[in-house]
Amino acid sequence: MSWFRRQNNRPKKPTESRDLPDGVWTKCENCSEILYFKELERNLHVCPKCGNHFRIRSHKYVEILTDPGTFQETNANVVSKDPLKFKDSKKYTDRVKDAVKKTGMNEAIVTGTARLDELPVVLGVMDFAFIGGSMASAVGEKIARSLKLCLERKEPMILVSASGGARMMEGILSLMQMAKTSVLLARLRNERIPYISILTHPTTGGVTASFASLGDVILAEPGALIGFAGPRVIKETVAQELPEGFQRSEFLMKHGFLDRITPRSELKQTVGNILRVFHDGVNASSHAGIAFRPRTSVPLSEHDPVPLSDHDSFGASEGGNGSMPILELPDPDGSTTT
Ligand SMILES: [Zn+2]
Repeated sequence: MSWFRRQNNRPKKPTESRDLPDGVWTKCENCSEILYFKELERNLHVCPKCGNHFRIRSHKYVEILTDPGTFQETNANVVSKDPLKFKDSKKYTDRVKDAVKKTGMNEAIVTGTARLDELPVVLGVMDFAFIGGSMASAVGEKIARSLKLCLERKEPMILVSASGGARMMEGILSLMQMAKTSVLLARLRNERIPYISILTHPTTGGVTASFASLGDVILAEPGALIGFAGPRVIKETVAQELPEGFQRSEFLMKHGFLDRITPRSELKQTVGNILRVFHDGVNASSHAGIAFRPRTSVPLSEHDPVPLSDHDSFGASEGGNGSMPILELPDPDGSTTT
């Protein structure tokens, strides 16, 4: 018998009661507040302290925007091929396989039909979790098919964008989706079928340069990064400090690129109100809080008089014709818009 035998009566390790299972708490990346995940979920993944909009998955937006039980997915099996047999650090086909496994989706967008505030709509929601929400040929194809469905059914298109841009592993085929979707959106406009574009964090590259910026109404969530090239590239190109808040929703709103910044909690109601404005006419516009002009026909042929802008943010000199003129829509009373 040993005098000094150690009894097994050491204090237990700090126990399980203090070890919280993963995912119970999360930290706001903006204000560093520790948040109870369930509470955050109830708040549609918006920080209750600072209003930071956490990035959420496409199925969440479907839930938020549509009437319960009305969403029916379309073209779920449209997938991209690998025409370039592309390989960087790994094969493109393997990258897609991993993304499918990780996200449970076949592509970086989910499309379908649904009711929003009782109105029939065609809906597309991009998902950043699938290879950075990149626009592959399948993404463009799914949007194109959705737009064709809008034309067939005369139903509005709602598209939620979240993207790092075109998917470069498909080379020019991904870039061609910009033209494909834009052409169909022009047909929607000719048929006077509304298209509402909702921009979320982040919306960049070829997506911003095509369908995301072509909405009859463009909404954005607060604080979303929206742009073509990233701030770092622009800063290096122009060799200047960029203004504070550059490329964020609030900055773009101030400079006329957006129609409204809409918190996630108000998205559905805002889109519903806007659709009713298009549906019922301009008299209902007070509901939406946005001053709408009646939609007038836009001169499209070269014979129609189209005033050229001398908007100075496009590099034009004041009062003269700029080198990069933009088109303006004529007001119903004949004057031009500003
Ligand atoms: Zn916060």
